[in-house]
Amino acid sequence: MSRIDLHTHTSSSDGVLTSGELMALAAKKDLRAIAITDHDTVAGLEAGEQAAAEYGIEFVPGIEISALYNKKEVHLLGLFIDRTNDRLTDAIRNWLMSRRERNSEMLQRLADAGVYIDTERLMRVAGAAEAITRAHFARAIVDGGSCGSTGEAFEKYLQPGRPTYVARGAVSAADAIAVIRQANGIPILAHPLRYKLDLSQVGQLVKSMVADGLMGLECYYSGHRFHEQEQLKKMAEKNRLCISGGSDFHGGSHDGAGLGTGYGRLHVPYSVYSELKHFKQSLAFEDGSG
Ligand code: AMP
Ligand code: MN
Ligand code: MN
Ligand code: MN
Repeated sequence: MSRIDLHTHTSSSDGVLTSGELMALAAKKDLRAIAITDHDTVAGLEAGEQAAAEYGIEFVPGIEISALYNKKEVHLLGLFIDRTNDRLTDAIRNWLMSRRERNSEMLQRLADAGVYIDTERLMRVAGAAEAITRAHFARAIVDGGSCGSTGEAFEKYLQPGRPTYVARGAVSAADAIAVIRQANGIPILAHPLRYKLDLSQVGQLVKSMVADGLMGLECYYSGHRFHEQEQLKKMAEKNRLCISGGSDFHGGSHDGAGLGTGYGRLHVPYSVYSELKHFKQSLAFEDGSG
């Protein structure tokens, strides 16, 4: 059966592979459709689209936006976005600026804690990344010898609650959803089970985000157990949401989730892609006639 993956990262954010390398791997793994959903940037989409076309893989332009909902960090995927949309471009500029401010504050606090990462090291680790994330900080800390693994770096320095952790300028979930919709994308709540909420709390969250314009739920995800996947699909149905799914692949040794296969059990069927595409086309039709 053919599979797809609608949640992946490239080296334009904190993934390890370039867009071209990602598509080569997708072809090797026989994926029929793939989305690139980098954190707060669309810089990898053009090259991804071209490479996907060469391999005959259906390409979905996407983004993953970190946002705040009731002081909680949630992630929104925007699928089928128009990457050249002016309002999206403006919003991305602001998000990247707030990342830069946050990153220099975090370098300062790390130095105060005796962990010296110079900007050059961070830039070297980040390579061509447009969005520099805590994942890059973790790699730079390991590279500098202060920690033995990126997991340890998160544990000691980078997770919320640590004095060296700095939260980023807040984008509300409602604003993130609005920007995605302005760019003709489908806003989808990413990895709903990673917010430390029980299923009924996730249900509440989803219901109130639907009022803000949410259109989809990531039901298939690396690490979801079968019954969780099915419960989330029911939740999507109840709220008349599209169903999405992907691995959250970052490449290399980032955290082991494989492209298309997650931790081994993930299988996102092609029908998930065709239904989303159909939904996107119905949106375009509404636009054109309204
Ligand atoms: P940021 O958007 O800058 O806050 O960085 C978040 C990124 O760091 C995520 O997208 C993950 O790739 C990575 N990350 C967050 N928490 C962890 C963790 N506990 N272990 C490993 N990677 C993490
Ligand atoms: Mn990441
Ligand atoms: Mn995420
Ligand atoms: Mn992700």
